[in-house]
Amino acid sequence: MIFGLGSEPGSTNLLTRALAAVDERVESVPDPVQIHYHLPDPRLDHLRVHRDYAQWLEELTQRFPHECRGIRGFYDECWAVFRALNALELLSLEEPRYLLRVFLQNPLACFTLLRYLGVNVGDVARRWIRDEALLRFIDIDCYVWSVAAADRTPMINGGMVFSDRHYGGINYPVGGVGTLAERLANALRDQERFPGCWVEYGARAVRVNVDGQRRATGVTLADGRQIRARAVISNATRWDTFGLAGADESVPRALVDAAEVPPTERLWRQWYTESPSFLSLHLGVRADALDAGHAHLRDCHHIVLEEWAHMESATDAAGTIFVSIPTVLDASVAPPGRHIFHVFTPSWMSEWRGLGHSEYRARKQQLADRLIERLERRVFPGLRRGIEVFEVGTPRTHRRFLGRKDGTYGPIAARRLHGLLTMPFNRTGLPGLYCVGDSTFPGQGLNAVAFSGFAAAHRVAVDLGLEPRLPLGLDAWLSEWISRRRLEWLGRGMQSTEDGTR
Ligand SMILES: Cc1cc2nc3c(=O)[nH]c(=O)nc-3n(C[C@H](O)[C@H](O)[C@H](O)COP(=O)(O)OP(=O)(O)OC[C@H]3O[C@@H](n4cnc5c(N)ncnc54)[C@H](O)[C@@H]3O)c2cc1C
Repeated sequence: MIFGLGSEPGSTNLLTRALAAVDERVESVPDPVQIHYHLPDPRLDHLRVHRDYAQWLEELTQRFPHECRGIRGFYDECWAVFRALNALELLSLEEPRYLLRVFLQNPLACFTLLRYLGVNVGDVARRWIRDEALLRFIDIDCYVWSVAAADRTPMINGGMVFSDRHYGGINYPVGGVGTLAERLANALRDQERFPGCWVEYGARAVRVNVDGQRRATGVTLADGRQIRARAVISNATRWDTFGLAGADESVPRALVDAAEVPPTERLWRQWYTESPSFLSLHLGVRADALDAGHAHLRDCHHIVLEEWAHMESATDAAGTIFVSIPTVLDASVAPPGRHIFHVFTPSWMSEWRGLGHSEYRARKQQLADRLIERLERRVFPGLRRGIEVFEVGTPRTHRRFLGRKDGTYGPIAARRLHGLLTMPFNRTGLPGLYCVGDSTFPGQGLNAVAFSGFAAAHRVAVDLGLEPRLPLGLDAWLSEWISRRRLEWLGRGMQSTEDGTR
């Protein structure tokens, strides 16, 4: 489900822009339906989120005619957020000169975004919609990308996702998602275009080196090599970068020594918690085993849930099932007559810890069987007998191959927060060290992490003197406020509110 590959006017097609920055583009196939929902309420079953906005509104309002006004009101607010984002050049929000410039260029868009920065989707949805079934739908429509219900999903992200699916749309990169990274990496290796630039795969950083002035000076790799740098950017999660384990857990291989962890990171640890990881099935399926004219094979993405109580379950393969069938849009990624099914459901590391080899294999088989059974019963009869390729990934797989603590999908609000206000940007409290990716503003999803990449590159370029900035003292003072003091100030505010309610 790839956002950000669009070609419509505006700035939010960040994957297209990232590729264009290195003179690359990928061919993509527009996905006419973002998600086909299979949900417990009959009014929500077989609900298809069409790329065409008018068709989507019609589908939803036909099912909830008494909420016609509320549906429009809610999505109008989403569009207001999206239009504001799309109108601005999207760069580092902790770079004061840029903030001043975009504010002067488009004050209205900036005010709109400021208005929604501290708001969650649930706040807006409840202002417009009364029907509990429809509100549950808004919850799951958030959950499938933010792994949190609407009242813990920031409105800036909601406005982006709920509008861009109709604007730039969901576009599937021909050849698979891996082509995006390959194109970027290959372009950067081109010495004629980017002299001195190199990319190393499989080179695990084990430590961020810090000098006597408490400044990050480079990294140590697992093979012992030291790489010196004027700026170090960590794409690992904040847990893996800074440790920050709770009392009952530990991150033995955090990149930054405990003694160097800045205090703002401890605030982050109080505000955000790990979302679960996933149990994933990668299946190669004979198409003739499935009902050939099966209506559900029209759509690439399916969400399956039989009971609302299990929407956020992440044990025993009982929770929401996500299905992607990329061969619906691009047959070239599988042999003729075959479909690829990527089936996944949230899963905590705790259900995989401490298992011996055979127990681990047995558990994988048991939970995979449960997922296949649920899918056969509800959506794809015949699925099991068509399976020719069968691979199961668990949270342990995510941890091992992506280096993510407990294989987590990323951070989610540990309690009700003020939208995105509490999310850190790219600078950290350790000078010279920046973070990028889903542990930074604005969170998970490819387009969101692409934004954080643009922002990090911009702020680093300014700090290295490659891009203009406000006079040095003013830039330092303002960006210190935006980066660090903002978080400390919010932390104090939240603490005194909590003390007051005790
Ligand atoms: C099952 C699943 C389905 C998803 N579907 C979608 C979707 O349809 N659309 C969408 O937009 N998003 C989707 N996402 C979310 C999206 O993939 C993530 O939000 C995004 O990849 C996060 O990017 P990141 O750069 O922050 O982290 P990652 O993608 O985890 O990248 C971090 C990189 O850093 C490397 N690394 C970590 N530690 C070290 C170290 N110490 N040394 C060297 N390298 C290191 C890792 O190997 C990894 O390559 C999905 C996620 C999952 C798990």
